[in-house]
Amino acid sequence: MDRAIPLAILPPEAMTTRAGAGSRTVRGRTASLGRVLIDSHGRTIRDLRLSITDRCNLRCIYCMEPDVRFARADSLLTVPELLRAARACVRLGVEHIRVTGGEPTVHPELVSVIRGVASIEGVTEVAMTTNGCLATVDAMRAWKEAGLRRLTFSLDSVSESTFAAISRSASPGNSAAKVIAGIEGAIALGLGPVKVNAVVIRGVNEDEIPKLARLARSIGFEMRFIEFMPLDSGHHWDPSKLVSASEILTRVSEAGDLVPHGRDVASSTSETFTFRDAPDVRIGVIAPVTRSFCGACSRLRLTADGKIRPCLFSLDEFDLRDALRDPGSSERLIEDILLDAVWRKQKGHGISAPDFRQPDRPMSAIGG
Ligand code: SAM
Ligand code: SF4
Repeated sequence: MDRAIPLAILPPEAMTTRAGAGSRTVRGRTASLGRVLIDSHGRTIRDLRLSITDRCNLRCIYCMEPDVRFARADSLLTVPELLRAARACVRLGVEHIRVTGGEPTVHPELVSVIRGVASIEGVTEVAMTTNGCLATVDAMRAWKEAGLRRLTFSLDSVSESTFAAISRSASPGNSAAKVIAGIEGAIALGLGPVKVNAVVIRGVNEDEIPKLARLARSIGFEMRFIEFMPLDSGHHWDPSKLVSASEILTRVSEAGDLVPHGRDVASSTSETFTFRDAPDVRIGVIAPVTRSFCGACSRLRLTADGKIRPCLFSLDEFDLRDALRDPGSSERLIEDILLDAVWRKQKGHGISAPDFRQPDRPMSAIGG
């Protein structure tokens, strides 16, 4: 496949082939006249990561530099543009939408975004990933009323000093205690199963692994440890800072013997475990570096400034914003851009390849 072929010169039959012949039923719904998001490696896209802002109230060392330059405000998609894009994805077979960022809770119209995506026919689940600093009970109740079903938090440390060192928060109001209160509130409100992500970095927070696992046991949430990926805006990642899944699991075992459960579904990012003496407590390991799960990927990302990124590590991105902003562009055109971008989704991230190149965009500007 020639990655440089622009959409405009692709013959219509190429589009038909990639979209799949005939109509396709997606949970009782017929995806847009048989046009389904499928890539050239045979993977079908069901999950949209919708980044609604590149702004954030933290500056995590693995994501965003303190002097980060945000995209111009007028380059960010408006709520109607975000929803127009989401609707097109759903017509093409997307079922799950995860609202993310940057930090989605700093978006002034978050409730409208949630309400909008939750009301799209065919969406079976709306989830959101947050650092939890603004997850008050009142806010979470409003998100739930708008249609949010599940919350995933990020918490890399239970120790306030390590939390502050990692998050580089300028505000004393942002703390591990606040995030933990948010997690408990989300569980009480039924925004679950609540999952909590921790990025593990050598020399920074490996010691936190058993502590976070014990916290998961005592509160009752799913704790997921993520291998540090080369997506930090400072480009400080190097393999010596990686704590592998195997090492993570050894440290988790300090909190109890683990029983493996594999992946919930093939496309899950996370391998799950439970404790032998606490079978209801789930531990996940997300190991994109040492146990790549690209083969079953079902995800597509839309950045807050309207670029489609078929892969976290894409070096190519596809502009959707111009089409979304042009009142004259048809829904068919927006779908075609999406179909074309997905078709070109790379086979794998290639982090371990000698010619690996870190994308220019950091995680915060992609949408995790
Ligand atoms: N601001 C929200 C948060 O932190 O949960 C949502 C966006 S954040 C980009 C989404 C997820 O990406 C978080 O769980 C974060 O820990 C993870 N992440 C960010 N940079 C990462 C990196 N370099 N390696 C691995 N995970 C990373
Ligand atoms: Fe902000 Fe999330 Fe990135 Fe941390 S990981 S800087 S909270 S976007």
